Amino acid sequence: MAEVLLTADRTLMSDYHNNIFLGFGTCAPKNIIPEWLYSFLFFPRIRSNNGVPLAAPYGLRKVEAQLLKEEFNVKTVTPNSIHRHIKSAKILGIHTMDPFGLGPASSTLSAIFKKKPYLARHFQELIDNPVIKQAQKRGLKIVIGGPGAWQFHYRKDFVERQGIDCIIEGEAENILGKIFRALFNGNSVPIFYQTPIKETPTLDEIPDIVSPSIDGLVEIGRGCCRGCEFCNVTIRPLRWNSLNKIRREVDLNLSLNKANNCCLHAEDVMLYGSRNTTPDGKKLVKLHELVVAERKVDLSWSHCSIAAIAAKPKLLSKISEMVLQNQAWWGAEVGIETGSPEIVKKRMPAKAHPFKAEDWPQIVHEAMGLMHDNNLVPACTLILGLPQETEDDILKTMELIDNLKEFRSLIVPLFFVPLGQLSREDWFKSTNLSDLHKQLMFQCVEHDFYWADRLIDSLYKNKWQRRLLKPFYKAFVAIAKSKVRQIE
Ligand code: SF4
Repeated sequence: MAEVLLTADRTLMSDYHNNIFLGFGTCAPKNIIPEWLYSFLFFPRIRSNNGVPLAAPYGLRKVEAQLLKEEFNVKTVTPNSIHRHIKSAKILGIHTMDPFGLGPASSTLSAIFKKKPYLARHFQELIDNPVIKQAQKRGLKIVIGGPGAWQFHYRKDFVERQGIDCIIEGEAENILGKIFRALFNGNSVPIFYQTPIKETPTLDEIPDIVSPSIDGLVEIGRGCCRGCEFCNVTIRPLRWNSLNKIRREVDLNLSLNKANNCCLHAEDVMLYGSRNTTPDGKKLVKLHELVVAERKVDLSWSHCSIAAIAAKPKLLSKISEMVLQNQAWWGAEVGIETGSPEIVKKRMPAKAHPFKAEDWPQIVHEAMGLMHDNNLVPACTLILGLPQETEDDILKTMELIDNLKEFRSLIVPLFFVPLGQLSREDWFKSTNLSDLHKQLMFQCVEHDFYWADRLIDSLYKNKWQRRLLKPFYKAFVAIAKSKVRQIE
C-alpha cells in the first residue's frame, strides 16, 4: 500500500475524448445542459484499473516520477477511488490547475453566468471528501501543487479551514523530496512554498514521466523569453528538452496508452530549440519528423505565438504538410491579447519580436491568415481590462477582430487577472465592463459561433457523439450570447 497518494479532481482527471482543447469546457458553470451529460461530453471520467488511472495530468506525472526517483512509495489514483487507497497513506498530493475558478477563462465565464465553474466545484468536492477528512484526523498531510497553486494566496481562510499542510508554487522537482521527507518525519514545513529561482531544475534534473500523461501531452520546453507583464511563466528560465528526451516520453505514452495522440507542450512550440524569438527551422522540422512522420500520431500543440508564425511562413507550410498527412487540422492556443499597439508596447514589448510592436495588428492578421491556409486552428485569447486600457485600445481590438472574420479560429475574451509583474493591480470584474467591452465580447461570441459550428463535425469522430452534442452545444452558445447581452 502506498504511503503517498497523488490525485486531481475529476475535471483534470479526464482525457476529454482525446481532444485536450475540450478541457476548456471545465471552465464553464452549470448551464442548460444536464450536469451528467455536460460532464460526460466535456470531461468524461478517465478509464482506470483498480482506481489507478490509465493517464493522468502531465504535471502530476512529473511529481510521481520525481518521488519515485527519491524512493517514496507512491501511487496515482482517480478522485473517486481515494477511499480504496487512503488507509495507509501518510501524504495526499493534489494537483491543481484552477481550483477556485480564478483563472482568466473561468472567472470570465462565471461573471457571465454568475455561477461557480465546474472545475472549482469539482475541486471543492474532492477536498471535502469525508474519507480525506477522517484520514486528516489520524495525521494525513495534504500537499497542493500545480499551475493553480497561486490561487490559495487569495483563499487563506480556506487553507486553514481545510488543514492544508503545504502549497508548492513553481517547478518542484528539486524541492519535493525535501518537503515530503520533512512531513514524513513530523517536521514543520512552510504552508506556502514558492520555489526560488536557484532551485529551478536544470533539464537533466527533470525526470522522464513513468506512466502515461493525458492526451499524450509531452513537454518540449519550459519558460518563455517574451516577458509579458501579466504572465507568470516568464519568470522561469527558457530551456528546451532534447529530442531524445521527447522521444522517450512520446514512446512511453504510445506504448502504455491506447490513444494515438500527442500534444507538444511549450509556451511557444514554433520556437523549439531556438535561443531567441526566431524559429529554428531545422530543429522544428526534426521534432515533427520524430513525432508526426515516424510515429504518425494525432498531433496538437499546446501554444504557439503570432510573431513566430509570421516570422517563418514557409516553415509553417512545411510543418503543416507533415501534420496533415495524418489529420485534417491541428490546434494550438495563441495569445492575441489586444489589437492596440500601445498596449503591446506598454505591457508586452517583446510579444511582436522580431517585428515591431507598432505593427501588431498587421502581424496578427498575417499570422492568422497563414494558420488558416495551413489548417492550424488557433484558440486565441484577448485580455479585457489590462491596467490603463483606454477606449481607443478597445476600439482597435474591435477593428482587429472584425478583420479576422474570415480566418478559422476561436477568439476568447478573458478578464485581466493580476499575475506576474502586475500581481498588485486590481482584478477586472464584470462590473468594470464598459459598453465597448460588451460589444467586443459579443463580437467574439459571434465569431466563435460561426467557426465552432464548422469545426464541431471534425471534433467528434463518432457520429452518435456528434449528433448528441450539437444541439446542446448550440443551446449553450445561444445562452452565452444572450448572457453577454444582459451583462450590466
Ligand atoms: S508570450 Fe505567452 S507565455 Fe510568454 S510571457 Fe507572454 S503571455 Fe507569457
